[in-house]
Amino acid sequence: LHRAIAIDGPAASGKSTLSRLLSQRLNLIMVNSGAMYRAVTWKVLQRGIDPNDREAVVQALREMELECGVADLVSTIKVDGIDPGDELRSESVNSHVSAVSAVPEVRECLVSLQRDYLKLGDVVMEGRDIGSVVFPETPFKIYMDADPSVREARREVVGEVDSVAARDRADSGRATAPLKIAEGACVLDTSGHTIESGVEAAIEILRG
Ligand code: C5P
Repeated sequence: LHRAIAIDGPAASGKSTLSRLLSQRLNLIMVNSGAMYRAVTWKVLQRGIDPNDREAVVQALREMELECGVADLVSTIKVDGIDPGDELRSESVNSHVSAVSAVPEVRECLVSLQRDYLKLGDVVMEGRDIGSVVFPETPFKIYMDADPSVREARREVVGEVDSVAARDRADSGRATAPLKIAEGACVLDTSGHTIESGVEAAIEILRG
């Protein structure tokens, strides 16, 4: 059976960078679970649905067709046949994705699609609940963290409008699958790391 590496942590803690490099080094499918929550949020907003109206969000979820795939070892997502591309990282998606992600039906649907990736091969998956909910049995769990000021600065460098602190508060405080350090996870603080030294530290952790 295929294996999973779970990478969790708050926004801009370095999860994507680490996942990409691990995927390249270890030949794993890299799955960005946040993109899936963002895609549902994008569609909800596109339809003019209030992201805080749970019932309406659930109804919209039932009406949308989500296609999850892989291209060049990287996860892809289409909603009703469309790849939202850069719109997944727009300011409006950033500010509403936490509300949509807090809806239990949304999580149930996406967690099931996330587990399906293991049918395709070994994966490194990043998110908020990968080690706690999606793959609780995997022995390979890393919880990434970095100082809030370091994380805000990383987002500014890439020119994104995103209130990292507000998203983290919402993601940590929600009732269903809150962001937390999963049982058995090893914490990796990247504040003082370069990208390369962070990857080396992660590989050390995974070697056990
Ligand atoms: O990882 P990224 O910052 O793109 O995730 C966007 C949002 O999606 C998070 O702020 C969180 O609300 C939600 N998310 C989640 N569970 C995951 C991945 C992302 O709730 N496994």
